[in-house]
Amino acid sequence: MTQIIHHKADMNLLASQYLQQGKKIGFVPTMGYLHEGHLSLMRGSKKENDITVVSIFVNPTQFSPHEDFTKYPRDFKHDLKLLNQEKADVLFYPSIQEIYGKRTQERTNIRIPESLTQCLCGKYRPGHFEGVAHVVSILFHLISPTRAYFGQKDYQQTVIVRRLVADLHFPIEIRVMPTVREKDGLAMSSRNIFLTKQQRKSAPLIYQVLLFGKKCYKDGERNSRIIEKKIKDLIHQNKNIKVEYLEIRDAETLQTITRINNKAVLAVAAYVGKTRLIDNILL
Ligand code: AMP
Repeated sequence: MTQIIHHKADMNLLASQYLQQGKKIGFVPTMGYLHEGHLSLMRGSKKENDITVVSIFVNPTQFSPHEDFTKYPRDFKHDLKLLNQEKADVLFYPSIQEIYGKRTQERTNIRIPESLTQCLCGKYRPGHFEGVAHVVSILFHLISPTRAYFGQKDYQQTVIVRRLVADLHFPIEIRVMPTVREKDGLAMSSRNIFLTKQQRKSAPLIYQVLLFGKKCYKDGERNSRIIEKKIKDLIHQNKNIKVEYLEIRDAETLQTITRINNKAVLAVAAYVGKTRLIDNILL
């Protein structure tokens, strides 16, 4: 049975007991409403560590006021069933108060280099990655994992977490697991539940155009503007999808590139109805 822990002191104590016993902790941070994508991270952790700790925390500081914090899907019973099924050892399930206390303003914050936050999702979600870095740091301190698991689906997040860990000397290995998809290619996401039948039919186009972009690259095209233009023309044919950004950037620095000479990422964010979906592919 997965052990459920609500309080930070209990989490911290349990983690230190495991560490004293010489056990390696694998950590999977989530916002719940678990699906196969999350489960793949847990399986990755179980393979490499003695103990797997999963957190479920819908972090208010990474949502802007106009975003879907209160509407974010939650289903604790279902999540717990999956955690038990996967034999996750510990679920850390704190309240907002437990993580942030009474203080809502003037917290100590983490500033991430603008080159990583002012582009892609960060440009459209101001403060989002600072919120992510903040809560991830708190969780890392409480749980002291040897390894932490993130999904490639949130590509910019993986780059920022790696930088956070390097710059603040967290003794943690970051593992990035491949994006898990539905049969038709749509990246699994807790937010997919918001799609109507019609929108759900349109949504796989997001991945199809990424594959098309990769094909252009494989066929020898190295000009990122040309690939971006071709893909945009394709995706704009579907009136249900409104592209927020669709860009090729350097996979490590996230800087724009006109010629693809190094490892690059083709990343997209698009609204299907009111639901914002993201996806990416490496070139
Ligand atoms: P979330 O609950 O959406 O904050 O996601 C928690 C973790 O699961 C993050 O590291 C995500 O990148 C990862 N994740 C979400 N969806 C997928 C997916 N389809 N495939 C792989 N990892 C995923």
